[in-house]
Amino acid sequence: MVVVIEGKKVASTVIERVKDAANELSRTSGVKAGLAVVIVGDDPASHAYVGAKSRMAKECGFASVQHTLSSETTQEELLELVGTLNQDPSIHGILVQLPLPKHLKSEPVIQSILPEKDVDGLNVVNAGKLAIGDVKTGLVSCTPAGAMVFVRQTHGEDLSGLHAVVVGRSNLFGKPMAQLLLNANATVTIAHSRTRDLSAVCRTADILVVAVGRPQMVRYDWVKPGATVIDVGINRITSPERGEGKSRLVGDVAFEECSETAAVITPVPGGVGPMTIAMLMANTIIAAYRLTGAIAPS
Ligand code: NDP
Repeated sequence: MVVVIEGKKVASTVIERVKDAANELSRTSGVKAGLAVVIVGDDPASHAYVGAKSRMAKECGFASVQHTLSSETTQEELLELVGTLNQDPSIHGILVQLPLPKHLKSEPVIQSILPEKDVDGLNVVNAGKLAIGDVKTGLVSCTPAGAMVFVRQTHGEDLSGLHAVVVGRSNLFGKPMAQLLLNANATVTIAHSRTRDLSAVCRTADILVVAVGRPQMVRYDWVKPGATVIDVGINRITSPERGEGKSRLVGDVAFEECSETAAVITPVPGGVGPMTIAMLMANTIIAAYRLTGAIAPS
């Protein structure tokens, strides 16, 4: 019988710990953790994500500041705002919601965030620290950090002897996920669009992590019997069975049929998704403790 990981439940455990840590910081140091979320333009999906992040930050007891900039904002204006937030001692975490409008370059903006405040973990300093296995002073990208919580929960801290296959090699997810698995002693294969015979590669995985953006690409016979399958993809597909013009979210894994072969699987929605916001909150409280020099609870 397959175990379906309940992402919301795991995320709420993380959030409870963050709230306790935020209370402790405020009690011992008089400091309220501060998260600044910056959004440019009026993409409805981005506004929904940012709203959810700001609400969760407030729920955690953080000082949450949202900067909503018009779609005409220039690169210089955005960099100037990040510079101001970098200098602001009441702000411990800075997140610039991606994607940015087409006329803006995201890379210089991400790299301009002070690494100590880069709670999305996308800055080269944080990516580099992860690459050398330094998670003590760096900040790890939120979605892979969340997916790794599921892996640890299933297999423990030490993945020695296990083969992990990560499908997708983005800087946002695939690469940091592979580093986290490697740091935990897994034998790691990274697959991508140029990989030959992808299904055969996936079938060798004890831990299969898929972040591609192709609805239900992974079929039951891509999964090794007894494997752990972590589905990161979020895809909206039409759903005529729900009524005309209706749609629904699915992952990169054909959930029903892969549940027949996997031992552990994450659903979409309700799997990795809720963990992303929870790990953003966790990164913010970690950053706040480090920046204020307070001793973090274990
Ligand atoms: P990217 O588009 O940046 O990367 C996709 C990766 O998939 C690339 O490495 C690409 O390979 C690979 N790929 C594309 N097509 C195939 C194929 N047919 N076979 C094998 N590999 C393929 O996406 P992200 O990493 O940003 O996101 C991936 C998915 O995860 C998306 O659905 C996204 O919505 C979701 N996501 C979910 C999050 C959450 O909070 N749950 C957070 C972040 C992402 P190549 O490099 O060769 O082009």
